[in-house]
Amino acid sequence: MRHPFCHPLLPDAIQVLERGWLSSNNIVFAADEVPTVVDTGYVTHADTTLTLLQQALTGRPLGRILNTHLHSDHAGGNAMLTAHFGCETWIPPGDAALVDTWDEDRLSYRRTGQQCPPFRHDALLQPHSVVSLGGEDWTVLPAMGHDHAMVMLWCERLGLLISADALWQKGFGVIFPELEGIPGFAEQAATLDLIGQLQPSVVIPGHGAPFGEHDGAVSAALAAARSRIQWLSEEPRRNADNALKVLLAFKLLEAQRMTLDELAALVQASFDGNPAMRDLYPADPQGIAAFMADELVRVRAATRDGEAVVAP
Ligand SMILES: [Zn+2]
Repeated sequence: MRHPFCHPLLPDAIQVLERGWLSSNNIVFAADEVPTVVDTGYVTHADTTLTLLQQALTGRPLGRILNTHLHSDHAGGNAMLTAHFGCETWIPPGDAALVDTWDEDRLSYRRTGQQCPPFRHDALLQPHSVVSLGGEDWTVLPAMGHDHAMVMLWCERLGLLISADALWQKGFGVIFPELEGIPGFAEQAATLDLIGQLQPSVVIPGHGAPFGEHDGAVSAALAAARSRIQWLSEEPRRNADNALKVLLAFKLLEAQRMTLDELAALVQASFDGNPAMRDLYPADPQGIAAFMADELVRVRAATRDGEAVVAP
């Protein structure tokens, strides 16, 4: 049957619930024996996630969550969905031990100032293993760079790639390991090389609409991403600036209004959790917050209201 969220570039068995930037996309395989969703969005959008998912599932119960990685915008709905459906949760192995002990310091949530209700996992998405989705085999592929534990899902027969935050139509996720002093630029470049070798006909990204090679969009996205990773790796401060901008814009979307003190507290939390960042910034968190507030206004991610910034 035709489901509500089918996409012209994709088989009917795959539905993409395209979300904003606070929540990742949710990719739904509703007709499977075990109805499955890939990634679950951010916690403050959990009600919307459930509503959209119920429409996509047309009354069937969700059986399984697969997480490409455990950032709060991809796993924030896990706890709610498992409570609601009693479904299983499969995660990449890299962060499994941190989930077992719910280590908020080493999971990304504390240093990003983001929320993610604790969840458990039932199985691991081991790289190079195969999962069945929508009647097709999908290979789990490692995707280091943005998050060294992240995986992508690749359907060779149909040329479909679920790329998570390794490749969007415009760019890719912040290279977070570099902020902790762990190499990540070369790893991201290698992940882009891997995608290039796969030659996907359609990419389903973690954020934004699916895009295809029929009009050259996959090649164009890869070329732009390759030049961007080169540009970032030439000056690590660029990645750190981008990270702060993204983190502050994300928090502002959640909070809608933030004072400069609140922005500075988030900058401080970033420094506390990311030792390599502090060395890159001579100014104090207050000064950086003021600079970043101007940046957010400049790129239209915020407007100014006296001592505060407001989501646009
Ligand atoms: Zn991410």
